[in-house]
Amino acid sequence: MNLLIIGAPGTGKGTMSALIKEEFPIVHISTGDMLREAIANETNIGKIANHYISNGQLVPDDVIHGIIVERLGKDDIKNGFLFDGYPRTQNQAIDLDEILKSLNINLDKVLYLDIDDEVLKTRITGRRLCSKCNEIYHVVSKPSKVEGVCDICGGELIQRADDTLESLVNRLEAYHGMTQPVIEYYEKQGLVTRINADQAPAKVFADIKDALKD
Ligand code: AMP
Repeated sequence: MNLLIIGAPGTGKGTMSALIKEEFPIVHISTGDMLREAIANETNIGKIANHYISNGQLVPDDVIHGIIVERLGKDDIKNGFLFDGYPRTQNQAIDLDEILKSLNINLDKVLYLDIDDEVLKTRITGRRLCSKCNEIYHVVSKPSKVEGVCDICGGELIQRADDTLESLVNRLEAYHGMTQPVIEYYEKQGLVTRINADQAPAKVFADIKDALKD
């Protein structure tokens, strides 16, 4: 299965991707995770990306193109992949079509996590992330057992630099302006399944599994 998961920041793409990865033998490819890792490692890409990410803006398409081509060149994508947070612009979607065509790979489904913007504000400002294993928590809806410590690996829980209200305003603007057209692009190809993401995570995942049955 070759899948995309698309939705505004805070819709639960990361949480659902982790569950999908547990259930199906496919690799999870998050451009956001890859960029944050590049920033932490202070690579050239990380240095470019840092400026955009901390302002809640999209990283330029040519930078994203480079990391996607490199990632799709690895062997582990052979059993299928789940792109999370990519493509985020129509140009990226067209570019991905071309890259996949050159590799003789088809896209099977686009999971569109749909939710109201107001709900996202509460979700985003309470979100915490393990600095080591990327497990996602929320101070109210999914707190860790010990405050500030990851239940899984003991890593320190941090707040993402771009999970502030100021940055969220820019990110939602980028989402509605740039990413919404991507959903329409894939709707024309008949690939989109809309999932109501304003439900308990277990119910959202049950709906995703239903969508993946065929
Ligand atoms: P995410 O973890 O998916 O919310 O991504 C965090 C940030 O990384 C975004 O707000 C963007 O600044 C950047 N980013 C991630 N994926 C992309 C992409 N496909 N295109 C452009 N920027 C991206």
